[in-house]
Amino acid sequence: MPRQHAEFYEQQSLFYVGGRDATGQPWASVLVGRPGFVSAPDSSNLILQSYRRLPEDPLLLAPGAHLGGLGIDLVTRRRNRVNGTVLAEPAASVSAAPPAPAAAPVVRVAVDLSFGNCPKYIQVRDVRLRQDQLPPLPSAAPSPAAAQHTASAPTAATAGVVVRGRGKELGAAQLALIAAADTFFIATSYSGGGNRGGARELQNAVGCDISHRGGPPGFLRLERDPRGGPNPVLRWADYAGNNMFQTLGNLATDARAGLLIVDWATGDTLQLAGTAETDFQDRSLPGAQRSVRFTVTHFIHAAGALPIDTSAAAAAAKPVQFSPYLPKDAPPPLAPGQVWTPRTAGAAHDGAAAVAAAIAAGAVAPAPAEQVEVVSVRWAAEGIKTFEFAMPKGQPTSYVAGQYAVFEFPACYERPAAEGPPASASVADTAASCCCGGTITRTWTLTSHPAADSAARGTFSITVKRAGAVSGRMHDALRPGDRLALRAFAGDFTTELVLPPAPAAAAAAGLGAAPAPDHLVLLLAGGIGVTPIWAVVNDLAQRAAAAAAAARGKGAGGSSGSSSGARQRVVVLYSVRRGEEAAFRSELRQLAEAAAEAAAAGGADDGGLDVQVLLTTTAAVPGMDPGRAAAAAAEAAAVLAARRGGYVEAAGVRLGSALVRAALGPAGLEALRAGRCAAMVCGPGGFMAAVERTLVDELGLPADRLHSESFAY
Ligand SMILES: Cc1cc2nc3c(=O)[nH]c(=O)nc-3n(C[C@H](O)[C@H](O)[C@H](O)COP(=O)(O)OP(=O)(O)OC[C@H]3O[C@@H](n4cnc5c(N)ncnc54)[C@H](O)[C@@H]3O)c2cc1C
Repeated sequence: MPRQHAEFYEQQSLFYVGGRDATGQPWASVLVGRPGFVSAPDSSNLILQSYRRLPEDPLLLAPGAHLGGLGIDLVTRRRNRVNGTVLAEPAASVSAAPPAPAAAPVVRVAVDLSFGNCPKYIQVRDVRLRQDQLPPLPSAAPSPAAAQHTASAPTAATAGVVVRGRGKELGAAQLALIAAADTFFIATSYSGGGNRGGARELQNAVGCDISHRGGPPGFLRLERDPRGGPNPVLRWADYAGNNMFQTLGNLATDARAGLLIVDWATGDTLQLAGTAETDFQDRSLPGAQRSVRFTVTHFIHAAGALPIDTSAAAAAAKPVQFSPYLPKDAPPPLAPGQVWTPRTAGAAHDGAAAVAAAIAAGAVAPAPAEQVEVVSVRWAAEGIKTFEFAMPKGQPTSYVAGQYAVFEFPACYERPAAEGPPASASVADTAASCCCGGTITRTWTLTSHPAADSAARGTFSITVKRAGAVSGRMHDALRPGDRLALRAFAGDFTTELVLPPAPAAAAAAGLGAAPAPDHLVLLLAGGIGVTPIWAVVNDLAQRAAAAAAAARGKGAGGSSGSSSGARQRVVVLYSVRRGEEAAFRSELRQLAEAAAEAAAAGGADDGGLDVQVLLTTTAAVPGMDPGRAAAAAAEAAAVLAARRGGYVEAAGVRLGSALVRAALGPAGLEALRAGRCAAMVCGPGGFMAAVERTLVDELGLPADRLHSESFAY
């Protein structure tokens, strides 16, 4: 091992390891410590000490265990790999000071091979760890005060680290993590015949490797398991790399492999065990030289396993910089038969899978697709436009709040602008003028209201963020008078999910669901995930207004009064990077302020909604101390929680657990715990997983009361 590799390892806080469990199954894992926890006293030994392990990690670090190690600096894209064997003898000579009582065992690894590796597909990411949650190094003799801290530290150091799921069948939280990943680590093993990158003396060696894989978010595609297994198969493109082929060489001799996915925002880790198969002929994915399919047999999902510094300053410091080598093209859509669909109906609504399943089942296939004309186009926020269309004259003709519209485009609209149809071709009459053969579908939530807009004005709207090929082309070229091919309205992420059970009397009076004073509706949105959340809160307001009007009518007709029941609390928590990027910002403000005014005027039993909206922007505010921003946000949220309706914005802060608690207040937290609450969440995968962790794991919301929708493909 060259000295420069040794020095590199010594600077790392994270050391990725690939090894086997007691059954021989490879697992990918990571050890966490202060820089220096990996050290190299000479060119043939690595010492690992004072590290934290992932909870319940099955990877064996026992004497005789073969390990692959990877040090990777995500800021400089430097990385080095090592192969070795754990030695039996303790590494007592390494450090003068004894390790802390609860410290991890010292592991000495005899190095067989150390080599640099291709940095091409590494996303630059500034991962900062909370040093106070890492075991101190034995050589840095702690001060008496620090020693005291150390004595109580072992529990503090791993506080909040829990295994939040393990087993054979992946759930919504694990799938969200996989779907959002742009990086993973893969462990494989070899016993003779593996490819050691030209190191002839090791051609018959036994050991393990760990390797990094990067790609655009979503490059781990979730596909139906052709063998009918309960989990989706993970398929990824294998890009042109440094042609060492260790991983693929190993897989050719032993198909078992382990994957590690990290949620860099929260420090959650997902370890997957299974088998992988390489298709050397498959170049169908953009940039792919071949593809790999991974079948999951076991998983371990740990919350907060890496002590990521999530303070606003650290998190906002540097956004991810994607590797310039990543393919620019989007991957081809999955054919209906390829798409994975959940086997059991859970609380999570996998939008993509649901659409695909509906198409596969023929439910989303009116033939021919209905041509609908654009009536207006307007900006909804920075990078987001609302497109309004005339309602279709044929099928489909109606929808419910929270559903989406499925459109059809010629396949060439998915290609980059330079290769696709000329911009002048617009996106009009798409189904009629396919230049390339084949069609693709795209799905956008309906942001109009079925009664207030569609029945009353004869139009429906979608609100589209400029994201990729098709949405970009719509932003650039779609004008009033153009037409698009609408296939269907569909989806079950709708208001029904949060309506309290309708009391019999209200139902009998034809009022539908009536407000329930102690029933909390909690709606959470991240970024463009606001579209269904807006649709639902708007619908709740329209329903309450209709019920109140009906009650007033009855009152005017001679009944005893105009009161229609207790007001219902609706809390909307909406997180965006910057305020300018918040679609429906003014609409939500209007709705919440109108609710507050109505509450003040109408009293506690007018059947209205107490809509409280908290919009948080995560971008750091220049000159504002992150700690102060968080404190100000919590204070504003608490004031909001105590009011009957209202709107508040908080800048430079994440929608974390403290803020959610403050916004709910004691009554809301109690409703949550008691299950008198229904919640809906939509946003990026990381956001949804964090929300689930806060609401379900920390605050005790029964898991079946949390409904989520993913836009990810
Ligand atoms: C239920 C649901 C509701 C959504 N609502 C909204 C919304 O209200 N506003 C909004 O901006 N976005 C919404 N989206 C996301 C939207 O459907 C598109 O994925 C997004 O606009 C990016 O499309 P693009 O072609 O511009 O991006 P690209 O980056 O070119 O496409 C990304 C890749 O994703 C895959 N893909 C994307 N959409 C589909 C699809 N419909 N079917 C199959 N594969 C697909 C394809 O492989 C495509 O190549 C929603 C998604 C879902 C599943």
